[in-house]
Amino acid sequence: MTVHQPLPDAASAPAINTAATQGDGLGCHSGKQALRDAATAAGNSEMLERFAKDYPVGPHDKPQSMCPAFGSLRVGLRMRRTATVLSGSACCVYGLTFTSHFYGARRSVGYVPFNSETLVTGKLFEDIREAVFQLADPALYDTIVVTNLCVPSASGVPLRLLPKEINGVRIIGIDVPGFGVPTHAEAKDVLAGAMLAYARKEAEAGPVQAPRAGKAQRPTVTLLGEMFPADPVGIGMMLEPLGLAAGPVVPTREWRELYAALDCAVVAAIHPFYTASIREFEAAGRSIVGSGPVVVEGTVAWLSAIGEACGVAKPLVEAAQNRLVPAIRGALSAMPISGRITLSGYEGSELLVARLLVESGADLRYVGTACPRTPWSETDREWLAARGVMVNFRATLEEDLAAMAEFQPDLAIGTTPVVQKAKQLGIPGLYFTNLISARPLFGPAGAGSLAQVVNAAIGNKGRMDAMKAFFAGVGEGDTAGTWQDTPQLHPDFREKFARRAAKAKAAAEEIP
Ligand code: SF4
Repeated sequence: MTVHQPLPDAASAPAINTAATQGDGLGCHSGKQALRDAATAAGNSEMLERFAKDYPVGPHDKPQSMCPAFGSLRVGLRMRRTATVLSGSACCVYGLTFTSHFYGARRSVGYVPFNSETLVTGKLFEDIREAVFQLADPALYDTIVVTNLCVPSASGVPLRLLPKEINGVRIIGIDVPGFGVPTHAEAKDVLAGAMLAYARKEAEAGPVQAPRAGKAQRPTVTLLGEMFPADPVGIGMMLEPLGLAAGPVVPTREWRELYAALDCAVVAAIHPFYTASIREFEAAGRSIVGSGPVVVEGTVAWLSAIGEACGVAKPLVEAAQNRLVPAIRGALSAMPISGRITLSGYEGSELLVARLLVESGADLRYVGTACPRTPWSETDREWLAARGVMVNFRATLEEDLAAMAEFQPDLAIGTTPVVQKAKQLGIPGLYFTNLISARPLFGPAGAGSLAQVVNAAIGNKGRMDAMKAFFAGVGEGDTAGTWQDTPQLHPDFREKFARRAAKAKAAAEEIP
């Protein structure tokens, strides 16, 4: 039997903003400003300020990303004994669950639906609370993660008033609105940061569970950011001569790993945008090292920085470097890359991949990342800039495409729309997420790992040209699609409607 705690009284409960229920409601379609205004009206300006600080959007706020909440949802779905519950519009939840299952979630996503009435009256919060109490079975779960999507975030549904723990099951409520968290990569940090904050308080309060494989015998380096499964193993081997070990990867796959992650000697911000998580590590007294052990110069610099942060004697660090460098050089020279490349992505590892390409011999001209510039990406940014590579943080699709047009690469590595455009132009393209992120990146295993796929793609230029020539003029622009007859173009219609739209715009601007 579950014992429900009393609900917060009406006076202490924040006002629900009814704007979200008006007209077509609020969502991606209503624009970020409308949602931000609604959130401010609902007393959620503190949340917006925190997001603005953690995930600054400048110089613009248009990086292309899927619904950000997918990032945090995926982190929760990958954790053992963790239930995930979404609160948001049905269309958002449909899209998010569809994508989760497309990527093999293999477990249910909880959903607390709402309508205008339950949102306005505060019943939605009661429904979420009830759902959490029903789910909180310690035999099944360590943690329940409840996520407010855009409308509940904009309306101020107060997840912070949920009990912190029910029957020994931790309850974590987070807001992940698309109008506050710019990319799905940063949404991973929202949940990782919230979990680390919770775990840190538990560890400060008393003894906590040891890692499944027991406590590490050597000081550990926590690895921040999702990476190819072989990479933490390879990093562990590189750290061994320094008397160190690779610690957990954050986001973790299990709650107890969070304690081990916090109990490290140093944190390696392999993905440099985990601002909320870094705040928790710093609060736990841990220092942070940026960049990663990528190819020769990156590995040498990273081992030095880790050694320094952990007080490792210099000769030990130098011995490790001297052992690794020939192996990495050997792998690089066996698999060189030749060709001009532009690169864009939204994973957070773009700058490291860029370094790998440059040291492999590629003529890399541009790196665009949807993620922001942070202190932990500075080393890589400086290294790339010194080699004439243009680095663009918070890159938009338009900027990525403009770079491709400007540099006319032999290969465009990028997001789906970048690659689609490249192929349309007859430029070979590779998807960053599927084909580049799915390979080892670090140390000797990373060096040369991209050469085969990159060189094969560049070698396809002749086939791209042949295909482009064969399909030239078929299904382009207004004639795209499937037609019974040859499409007749009517440019006069376009002019007519453009005139009408301009007239309507001018009339609207005249209204005081
Ligand atoms: S939750 Fe995601 S899909 Fe829904 S309105 Fe927000 S950004 Fe769009």
